[in-house]
Amino acid sequence: MSNRFLPDNNLLFDANRRISQLRTLLRLILLIVSSLLATYFIQYDFNQIHIALISTIFVLSLFYVFLTLDTSSIISGMLIWGLTILILFLAWHNGGLYASAITALPCILMLAIISTNRVVFIPLVLFILLAIYALGYAHVFGLIAFKSTDQIEFVWRKAFDISVVLFSFSLVMSFITKDISSLLFNLSQQNETLLNEKNEAIKLGNYDDLTELPNERLCLEGLESLITIAQKKGTILAFITLDIHNYKDICSSLGHSQGDLVLKELAVRLLVLFNGQPYLYRFPGNEFVILRPAIDYEEVSVFAEQILQALTSPFMIREYEIELLGAIGVAIAPFDGDSMELLRKKSHLALYKIKDKKTCEYHFYDEDLESIESNKYQMIKALKLALENDEFELYFQPKVDLSNGKIIGAEALIRWHRPNHGMVPPDVFIGLAEESGLIVDLTKWVAKNAIQACKGWHSADLNHLSVAINLSAVDFRRGNLPQTIFKMLNNACLSTHYLELELTESMIIDDQSHVQSQILELHTKGVMLAIDDFGTGYSNLGYLSRFNVTTLKIDQSFIKRMNDTQHDYLIVKAIIQLGQSLGISIVAEGVEDQENAELLKQLNCQYGQGYYWSKPLKNEDFIQLVKKHNVI
Ligand code: C2E
Ligand code: CA
Ligand code: CA
Repeated sequence: MSNRFLPDNNLLFDANRRISQLRTLLRLILLIVSSLLATYFIQYDFNQIHIALISTIFVLSLFYVFLTLDTSSIISGMLIWGLTILILFLAWHNGGLYASAITALPCILMLAIISTNRVVFIPLVLFILLAIYALGYAHVFGLIAFKSTDQIEFVWRKAFDISVVLFSFSLVMSFITKDISSLLFNLSQQNETLLNEKNEAIKLGNYDDLTELPNERLCLEGLESLITIAQKKGTILAFITLDIHNYKDICSSLGHSQGDLVLKELAVRLLVLFNGQPYLYRFPGNEFVILRPAIDYEEVSVFAEQILQALTSPFMIREYEIELLGAIGVAIAPFDGDSMELLRKKSHLALYKIKDKKTCEYHFYDEDLESIESNKYQMIKALKLALENDEFELYFQPKVDLSNGKIIGAEALIRWHRPNHGMVPPDVFIGLAEESGLIVDLTKWVAKNAIQACKGWHSADLNHLSVAINLSAVDFRRGNLPQTIFKMLNNACLSTHYLELELTESMIIDDQSHVQSQILELHTKGVMLAIDDFGTGYSNLGYLSRFNVTTLKIDQSFIKRMNDTQHDYLIVKAIIQLGQSLGISIVAEGVEDQENAELLKQLNCQYGQGYYWSKPLKNEDFIQLVKKHNVI
């Protein structure tokens, strides 16, 4: 702004406003000139002034017609110059420096300051000053007649006075306008900043930071308009929830930045699936929501398949190949509801149908799911009572030394004898117990009973046996797990190294330091640590030595396939070699036949667990089995 002598009109007003102002100005001047012409017609016979005024009206009308965004600068320049010439012309014919037309010059200068730039303004001021002296000259040489009272010696004085007044006026107005201009410029800048901030705030409130996808709020708007359209057309609208199962595992093992990159990449892949406007939203957590107008369920199914394909093709993030596991729940408007709350709830209920979180599937909501949900709450209620009513029982599945076939210990697996329901397997209720927090008490019950059982084995002369229990991430939340376990071991007079805790990879590499500190505390005092379902997570394996992991339990899925699939065979072989080189025991889980057991033995796997030796057994049956096995 500092180098700006005159205001730049574009800064003051936006283009459209400027045009409308110029139009108003033209109308005003046309009115003034026409009134002037009318008075001339009344007072004088037709002369040059009439012609000049008529020509001016004609030119002004042309300006009015041809005024556009492109011509506005030229027209405002021509208008100022044209009016100046008209005024000087009128002055020439009406008494020169003594003409009343001269008094209109400040208005012209003011107009020029406001509506043109310095390229027009400076020559205009010079021209007007020159014209004033030219009029004075005309007076002196008799080209313009004096009025009776005027005297020749005052002409130059008059010319000087007028030019000083006009010059001072121009200068003062220029400074004032410059100030106003800079004030307006600052204001417009502040306005722009405020607008940007407002837009940013709107964006933050409506869009997800990471993926830049619209969020829940915009989804609600989109849903309302799409439902209205669907109702008019008689079509359906699918409310699709995409849930990613293994996102937490990915973050735990590769870090949150990699996890973020996967989500971003997934968002890009999903956007490609849309032809027109993408109705794709990110909800809190790892949930993506898609709204899909469709003719029928078949069309939605095809689309769901496409989503699964986008989800399951491996992601190359830096040097890692990452596979996502997820599932899709679909609710259909108008049949399943027409509010976001209902459709979202039902799409979540549809996700309950997924039994195995290791596969990627999609499911539509159906009414049976309502009963699943109410069953769920009933089951949580029943679980609470089950602890009080002593409905649980521990089963023990032997772990066998592959070199001599002897049982070296057991994994304790919980069973629930639910009244009127028979035996409920842990897969059905462990998740619910975790969700409701009941797992903490359940784990205490398991730990206590497993420790007592182990103590019992020792008392029955089977004092080489150890016991393993399964832990859940939720068990670490209270922070007192180590104390609870040490107290139980103490009460039972059982040495810490007879107890093994089975953890999953995601638990051990959890970012939360309080989990890690508890694991370390347990381990430092001699409790054994096993990694359950090893091979299914994404790990940098650094934790193996950091926590002095004692055992790796190879996931059943590899063991089951290793006899038939080279790929799985190689994975098992590699895990066994890893264990050997790090001095970590390896347990192969899910061994079901002799062929499997033999192959593992050939690979120098130390221990096995599975139906081949025994299913999980009641404590007394387990003791019998050990006695039988270990004698042979
Ligand atoms: P897991 O820790 O991987 O336990 C092994 C599961 O595989 C057990 O199922 C066992 O019965 C089964 N299994 C063992 N050998 C074979 C085999 O040769 N073939 C087949 N098909 N299956 C075999 P279960 O007892 O139904 O337990 C399922 C899961 O429930 C467990 O998987 C564990 O994650 C969880 N769980 C069981 N008891 C507890 C517990 O006390 N606390 C916690 N937090 N989780 C538990
Ligand atoms: Ca286990
Ligand atoms: Ca396992």
